[in-house]
Amino acid sequence: MNEIILIKDGEIALKGLNRSTFEDMLCKNIRQRIKKFGNFEIKKSQSTIIVTPKDEYADIDSAVDEISRVFGIAGYSRAAVAEKDMDQILEIAPVYLEEQLENAKTFKVEAKRSDKKFPLKSPEISAIVGEKLLESFPHLTVDVKNPDITVTVEIREKAYIRGNQLKGAGGMPCGSSGRALLLISGGIDSPVAAYMMAKRGLQLVGIHFASPPYTSLRSEQKVHDLLTKVARYSGRIYLHTVPFTEIQEMIRENCPEELFTIIMRRFMMRLSNMLADSTDCHAHITGESVAQVASQTLLAIGCTDAVAEYPVFRPCVGMDKQEIIAISRKIETFDISIQPFEDCCTVFTPRHPKTKPDIHTVEEAEKALDIDGLCQRAFDGIKRICITAEGVQDE
Ligand code: ATP
Ligand code: MG
Repeated sequence: MNEIILIKDGEIALKGLNRSTFEDMLCKNIRQRIKKFGNFEIKKSQSTIIVTPKDEYADIDSAVDEISRVFGIAGYSRAAVAEKDMDQILEIAPVYLEEQLENAKTFKVEAKRSDKKFPLKSPEISAIVGEKLLESFPHLTVDVKNPDITVTVEIREKAYIRGNQLKGAGGMPCGSSGRALLLISGGIDSPVAAYMMAKRGLQLVGIHFASPPYTSLRSEQKVHDLLTKVARYSGRIYLHTVPFTEIQEMIRENCPEELFTIIMRRFMMRLSNMLADSTDCHAHITGESVAQVASQTLLAIGCTDAVAEYPVFRPCVGMDKQEIIAISRKIETFDISIQPFEDCCTVFTPRHPKTKPDIHTVEEAEKALDIDGLCQRAFDGIKRICITAEGVQDE
């Protein structure tokens, strides 16, 4: 039996005249994400995207699983393909939907006829298919208001028969809202922030600050593992690892201890600005949440934002830790995040960090540093790798 995947796009539908551009981007993302599972044709057809396996090697189970994590999709379902012929539809429907209908108590049939040349009208198709299903599954009753299973028969270029539609990942197609730099640490919050902003249609570019030998290769590996999980939703991510040791040592040697963290965060933001310029990104994303740690007070966040040249998105800002953890479990990053490896934020942590830093005091303290030289050397030492849901890729 031939099977296809039917996809309904989500919020894209609100985009009016831009709709077609958004749909093209969604199709492109779907193509990119499922090509590893074989040869599929992907085409738009009247507010539906139809994914058709081109040969028997195309792995439809894996493609459906992947599609469940592609943003921009409101719902999706597998469907059996029949000729536009009632006998064939009646033959295929009970066999194809057997498992779903065996486990249901109530159902209804909905027919959609986009091919107006088909000899029967929609209510007639529904009635005939419904009758056949009642005959094949005598335990079922019809419930038009709140059925366990809605059987849909769509008459288009072929006849498509399907059961309940599954809920898609929602959001907007990645890339449709532009590109942003993700400041990724090994913690719980930044991978969650990544997921949330990718869902809003941003394409992610990663930046991670490493301070060897204070931070180990194992903690960089942890960031790779986290992004491998995030890429299951966002698609590929180019990760830029910035050598941060010299900057941290210079801060430690030349600045007041209570300002270490805030000055370090301002350097992260400056380097993120530089990378944004060269990677065509127009925002920064961080996992900060107000009041979680000393650097996340309003004044401390204000001092960081004072050097940011692009908007800083902090999608976790209004969330409790438990809410953030719930998402990190869902996207499977939690168990990786809690592995105990040091982050550059946890080396040289001041004993008494200033929670109400004054921007003028901070700027004054930074005068002891060659800001441009430090940033340029760190920038020149950036290493880039490509990460997909399959892990680190050779470029
Ligand atoms: P997370 O759980 O994401 O580490 P956190 O609550 O531990 O966040 P901080 O460690 O203060 O808070 O970091 C706040 C944010 O700064 C992180 O969410 C991340 O966006 C960014 N950040 C921190 N350390 C790094 C790093 N080594 N490289 C890149 N970004 C970092
Ligand atoms: Mg952290």
